[in-house]
Amino acid sequence: MTPAGARGLSAIRPLALAALLAGALAGEASGQVPAAVPEKRLPAGRAHAVPARTVSPAPENPVYHVVSYRLDLTAAMVDENFGGRNLITLVLKAPADSLVFNQLWLQIDSVVVNGTPCAFALSDPSEQFTVQLGSTLPAGDTLRCAVWYRRLPGVARESDRLGYYYFQDTLPGLPANLGYTMSEPSDARCWMPCYDQPWEKSTSEMFVTVPQGYVAASNGILEGVTDAGGGNATWHWVEAHQIATYLMCSTISKFTNPASRLAVAPGDTIPVEYFVWQRDSLAAAAFLPVVRLMITNLGKLYGPYPWDKYGMTAIVPFAYGGMEHQTITTLNEYVATDTDVVVHELSHQWWGDLVTCGTWKDIWLNESFATYSEALFHETLGGRAALRNELAGMLNLDVLSWTDAVYDPEGQGIYLFSDVVYSKGAWVLHTLRGVMGDSAFFRTLRLWRQLYGQKSAVTADFASTAGMASGSDMSWFFNEWIYGPGYPVYSLAFDWEGGALGVRIAQQQDPTWPTYRMPLPVRVYYPGRDSTFTVWDTARVQDFRIPLAAPPDSVALDPDRNLLWKQGSPIGPPVPAGTLLSFSLGQNYPNPFNGTTEIPYVVPGAFSTSSAPAAVSLVVYDVLGRRVATLVDAPQAPGEYFARFDGTGLASGVYFYRLETATPGGTTSKGVGKMVLVR
Ligand SMILES: [Zn+2]
Repeated sequence: MTPAGARGLSAIRPLALAALLAGALAGEASGQVPAAVPEKRLPAGRAHAVPARTVSPAPENPVYHVVSYRLDLTAAMVDENFGGRNLITLVLKAPADSLVFNQLWLQIDSVVVNGTPCAFALSDPSEQFTVQLGSTLPAGDTLRCAVWYRRLPGVARESDRLGYYYFQDTLPGLPANLGYTMSEPSDARCWMPCYDQPWEKSTSEMFVTVPQGYVAASNGILEGVTDAGGGNATWHWVEAHQIATYLMCSTISKFTNPASRLAVAPGDTIPVEYFVWQRDSLAAAAFLPVVRLMITNLGKLYGPYPWDKYGMTAIVPFAYGGMEHQTITTLNEYVATDTDVVVHELSHQWWGDLVTCGTWKDIWLNESFATYSEALFHETLGGRAALRNELAGMLNLDVLSWTDAVYDPEGQGIYLFSDVVYSKGAWVLHTLRGVMGDSAFFRTLRLWRQLYGQKSAVTADFASTAGMASGSDMSWFFNEWIYGPGYPVYSLAFDWEGGALGVRIAQQQDPTWPTYRMPLPVRVYYPGRDSTFTVWDTARVQDFRIPLAAPPDSVALDPDRNLLWKQGSPIGPPVPAGTLLSFSLGQNYPNPFNGTTEIPYVVPGAFSTSSAPAAVSLVVYDVLGRRVATLVDAPQAPGEYFARFDGTGLASGVYFYRLETATPGGTTSKGVGKMVLVR
């Protein structure tokens, strides 16, 4: 979802990418801001104007699993009356004599289970209703539970939880009557009885009967439109894939639908269509090539587009920028061709719809991913410069919510769709990429899809997926960046003395925020050249000594902005020369690795290149104890070093590295480390 008032919605922007897109489309119509979309005022910025609202209750652990929903709905399109029958097919997971579903402010007329009418009782305060089965049925039974219901006009409802929104064409600027559902997070229950939690997925089928001339767009594939008599038509849609209730929708008006097809595999195409009012049809048709490019480019990053259709509707009034209803995104007409909003909602088809946040505490698994996808799409067009530019536009450390943890906004008393789960979360994903490296990061995303596609998953699942993809435990990263509040505030100072660079890095963030354990890139600049070292920073103040033949002109921390951090206030220089350094052998980075890795170590003694050197030996062995490489066999002065090991051509597996130093005073120190090579 994109809340109104979010970045990109506060002011309509011309397509900043027009030039890039024009090039990328190579002759196809480039996306222009459609002259046909009239100027409109945005609805009030809901993201910041509405007080925090809690996710609504639902049975935590019902006795059943929903297999499918089949909805037969009628919208007369003269008032907000909407309803019909929901046939819920479910399987009992335990013996049960009653079933609890969600509903809110609905009129339920009757319930029939496997052909037998059943008693039921509604409870609006708990947003539930309970169906009595009449006897205890065994686990494993399949029940077909038909619920006839109506969503009556004139019932007192919370204005932002209508579930179904109806507007008459007498509203200024509205070309036709408009009815649509909007459910995230917990409002599907306001327009259909269901089991309304993001962790529960089923298939869905919708028959929506509307007056002739109206289009009822919905999830999945259009099976057909049939004459329903009385001047009505029935639109029949089937979503044969798994779908969460908050992603089900119906959007109804007098739409036209510019459509095209996109080749997704040899001999296989899917429809890409845009349901819009006539006034937007030219602009929508011109924009479809851009949408196809987005689907193609995101598919290269995340794996092929997961569904058999991509559709969008453009409507107004709509309290949001967009909503990623599965296979049929709802967009605010005001941003109907806004690249960032459109690519955001499209990327949700992978992250949010295919893999769905398991609970609302995990909403960042939807929103951070979709927001980072905006930057990644720019990167597919304009490379790293475009990525950096887009991320810079998202960086807003002064927004209050950035000091919060990405995980569980409501648990921290803030709005579920706060900027912390959008832009800060996107930056945290970018930071994860910076820490893991590109190949492990994108391998994580593809594995995420492979393991949890068509399912729901929680933050711990993503952390373990990242661990699997990288071959090492990544939980430390998620503890610091997702569960912990804030972000690092770094300050760097350096000096050069006696053939070595001294670097001091201070973490100046709030003491209640995590102390970050991070591999930090440090770049040293000389006239016409530079080189980059990675230091493992783990403390509030830490010093590093890097042997350098000549003093650099300047030193920069994370110059490519691969990590989220804030510049701190100036600090004093690092530990002066002469300081006694202790023997140390660190963990190689990256680890596991594919190609080269660096092993950090400290040669003990008084720090100064004028100190007498120690005899240093650093050797790599395989698991059978065979010597694979000698990285160092030479005298070295006391200081911190990084030995580069190139594993190209070696077999995957565990390797050991052994460091031995012998000082002129006769002190010998030894250490062994373990590293994993993956191919
Ligand atoms: Zn979103």
